[in-house]
Amino acid sequence: MSDYRLPTSVRPTHYELAVRTDLAALRYEAEVIISLEVLEDTPTIVFHMHPSLSVTHLALNAGSTQELALSALHTDADKERATVKLAEPLKKGAAKLAVRYEAELNGNMMGYYRSNSDPDENGKRLVYALTQFEPTAARRALPCWDEPLFKATFGVTLIARKHEVVLANMDAEGCKPFSPAAVKFEDIFADGYVAGSTLAPTFSSASNPDGWVATRFTPTPLMSTYLLAWACGEFTHIEALHKSAITGKTIPLRVYATNNIDQAKMALDATASALRVYEELFRIAYPLPKLDTLVAHDFDMGAMENWGLITGRTAAYLVNERSSLASLKRCGTIQCHEVAHMWFGNIVTMRWWDNLWLNEAFATLMGSLVLPERIWPEWKMAGEFLEAHWDRALSLDAKRSSHPIQVECPDSNKIATIFDAISYSKGASVLRMLMSVVGEEKFFQGVATYLNKHLYGNAEMQDLWDGISSSVGKDVGDMMNAWTMRVGFPVVRVEELGNSKLKLSQARFLSTGDAKPEENKTTWWVPLEVKTVDKDGAQVDHSAVLSDREMEYNVASDTFKLNAEAVGVYRVAYTPERLGKLGSQAASFSPADRLGLIKNR
Ligand SMILES: [Zn+2]
Repeated sequence: MSDYRLPTSVRPTHYELAVRTDLAALRYEAEVIISLEVLEDTPTIVFHMHPSLSVTHLALNAGSTQELALSALHTDADKERATVKLAEPLKKGAAKLAVRYEAELNGNMMGYYRSNSDPDENGKRLVYALTQFEPTAARRALPCWDEPLFKATFGVTLIARKHEVVLANMDAEGCKPFSPAAVKFEDIFADGYVAGSTLAPTFSSASNPDGWVATRFTPTPLMSTYLLAWACGEFTHIEALHKSAITGKTIPLRVYATNNIDQAKMALDATASALRVYEELFRIAYPLPKLDTLVAHDFDMGAMENWGLITGRTAAYLVNERSSLASLKRCGTIQCHEVAHMWFGNIVTMRWWDNLWLNEAFATLMGSLVLPERIWPEWKMAGEFLEAHWDRALSLDAKRSSHPIQVECPDSNKIATIFDAISYSKGASVLRMLMSVVGEEKFFQGVATYLNKHLYGNAEMQDLWDGISSSVGKDVGDMMNAWTMRVGFPVVRVEELGNSKLKLSQARFLSTGDAKPEENKTTWWVPLEVKTVDKDGAQVDHSAVLSDREMEYNVASDTFKLNAEAVGVYRVAYTPERLGKLGSQAASFSPADRLGLIKNR
């Protein structure tokens, strides 16, 4: 394990977290009891914790309870880690660590942070608070093992003023008035301990005539820390119901916002449609008891796929009858992207951040192409996908400075700088290529196999290829590895030898046209997708593949082009005569073919 990763001698199995949010004071206080599995004797417990959390109490239970002096806690601000140094080594087996801490609701859109509503008629803005943890900000809101491989269950209790709405990944199990209790911190491990009780003595209920309410949410399934989420504020909502065709159960779908909830109908409809389609495609029921979406004003990205509690920007999610078609498409595609993650990413999660591209590329393919084609066919998203992802990927990846989709990423704090449009747009394009070549049915059958095999666990790229290989009956990894592990893409040169015979060859494509021998060592698996047009119409040869440097191919008609529907992530170089013919035959080809030809120039 590199220095960037937490030790694996201790791992969390369950977090019991209680957070009391004081929106008026812009602060929160929290306690967390972390159930641990100690895999080998250790004198230290190392976990992630951001220096902005002020720890007030610390206790350990391993057979007996000991409240630890705060001097036992050593923090490393650079690594955002804390180490509990124990006088006696912690023995292999089960243990519990309890931490009580306080922090400010920060304004930097990471961790547990504050946002403001639109002003009301008196110009007053309401303060509310929500979380954003991906990739490495869960540690800004709770001490935790903040790596995707450390999956655990989470029981969350949120304590807030009575008029405020609290949201978390799961549905509320129950709520009751919350008042000061005379509980000592060392009693935190006692049977029957009520979560949040140590938080009570520090505030006076008299200053809150409204009263406080504690809401406990049902425990989550096993999940990664970056997908945990909660929120607190004066939200209103709209609701629809989803009846699962798989389980027959009905669950509520809601969109929450502080303002303009009437503009959230599109997002709600998209959620309902997406859940229905994904259950068909993945053959796994949406696993949580509800799916909320919280629309937020201050938000660092388009949206975030917290499990059961998607969060997203007002600008992306709120639309009305005056909104442009582009805004409707944005809302629909973003929500389809986020809902895809409820399965791909959340049920099955990457082992490490080097596979983040796969998570995002898959959700992009689903959200920007596969789902809209089924839900809003009138949007004709295939052309937009080609422009936004396929052509963009080819343009960026044609530069000498490009990089492979999958790159090493040992330091999780550098993820954002490592993965870029090449990773996501090329990633989505090569997944589309694979899906088109093997056929959507086999592709999704393979994805379902992959998801089922790794339910509530972690996986990596090869596991997805294995799933799809099993449905296709071919080694998909062999086909895909050059596309994901190597920089660049090929240009396929078409020479016409006469008598319907073509000589096809591949070489690395650089926009400067000067690939040196050492830059031209990769041989890609290139689906040729030769489209021919004759009096009976158009046919595509899906079986022709260029997997060597060159090959000969007999073409069935003089009206032909390669890379039908721009399925493959490559350029084609025709002879000038052929380009002239293609120009005059353009009407015989589809819009995607014509776009591919134009972009090819
Ligand atoms: Zn995503």
